[in-house]
Amino acid sequence: MTAPSLARAIAHDRRPDAASAADARRFVRQWVEAEAIGTERVPAFVLILKTKGCYWADVKGCSMCGYAKDTLGRSATPEELREQTERALRLYHGEPYVKIYTSGSFLDDREVDPRSRERLVAAFSGTARRLLFETLPEFATPATLEPLKAGFSGELEVALGVETTDPVVLSRFVNKNAGPDEYLAAADRVRALGLRAKAYLLLKPPYLTEGEAIEDTVRSIGDASARVDALSINPVHIQNGTVVERLYHRGRYRTPWLWSVVEVLVRGAGHRGSARLVSFPTAGGLRRGPHNCGKCDARVLAAIEEASLAQHFEPLTSLDCACRTVWTESRTLEPLGVEA
Ligand code: SF4
Ligand SMILES: [Zn+2]
Repeated sequence: MTAPSLARAIAHDRRPDAASAADARRFVRQWVEAEAIGTERVPAFVLILKTKGCYWADVKGCSMCGYAKDTLGRSATPEELREQTERALRLYHGEPYVKIYTSGSFLDDREVDPRSRERLVAAFSGTARRLLFETLPEFATPATLEPLKAGFSGELEVALGVETTDPVVLSRFVNKNAGPDEYLAAADRVRALGLRAKAYLLLKPPYLTEGEAIEDTVRSIGDASARVDALSINPVHIQNGTVVERLYHRGRYRTPWLWSVVEVLVRGAGHRGSARLVSFPTAGGLRRGPHNCGKCDARVLAAIEEASLAQHFEPLTSLDCACRTVWTESRTLEPLGVEA
């Protein structure tokens, strides 16, 4: 099988069959997590809606993304989206920060129709101070954003998976649908409307060594920082049914070290300008997530979270563990088949 057809086969493998009506009335997950708005620590209400999911996952799919498993296999009806929202609102206790995810693009009409989008945003208006959603760049236009802006009293934050500002890494290794320029142009459109733009940067796409991955992300911070309000460093974790998972099972991919996250934050702090720089690693400390030796992981993760919330990165420079030596060696040399 050729590489593109393998990627397509994987994308279709992970898309579930069309869901039943009962399934479609339930959101995927909800939780509350620590966040900050400026210098103020606030709880964030996080909601993952069940929608058709990302169209790009069916076309080709990104090499590290397994979110298609959390989707419906068809578009949710406005009624189903209304019910998911009502169920979620019963769990909402006025958290100032609200994050709505769809395992795709909130602004794609195939996932969330325009009326349902407006209803969702309005449901948190007057209570939430900041509301975040994610989208692919082509959907971030005045036509989709202006009605949401008009219906929400606080700040809207539009998250874009820029991942890297290297066009080759983005198109060949991550398999994204658009180039970095299109992502950053979308951020410009978002900010021109007076909304916040947040860029996700992916630490260690496949086919990069640990050292190359660090350099890629640090450079991307500098390239993107003037065009966004916040930068979130997302170290890769192994999701089911992905190209990255296949490489991992063959011993050809190790998730990034937490030391690499630390280095990216410490060095990136000097290039972030006025943008907020954060990292809240998913699956941190787990074998399939970003991890160190196992002994220092909890301590390093806590320091990364604290630095992200406080926007003070200097304390990260005093962290240490014997495993830093192994990490230093693995930056340039990653022996195939060896998992540290
Ligand atoms: S990473 Fe984003 S763009 Fe890529 S397949 Fe997943 S949801 Fe779609
Ligand atoms: Zn260690």
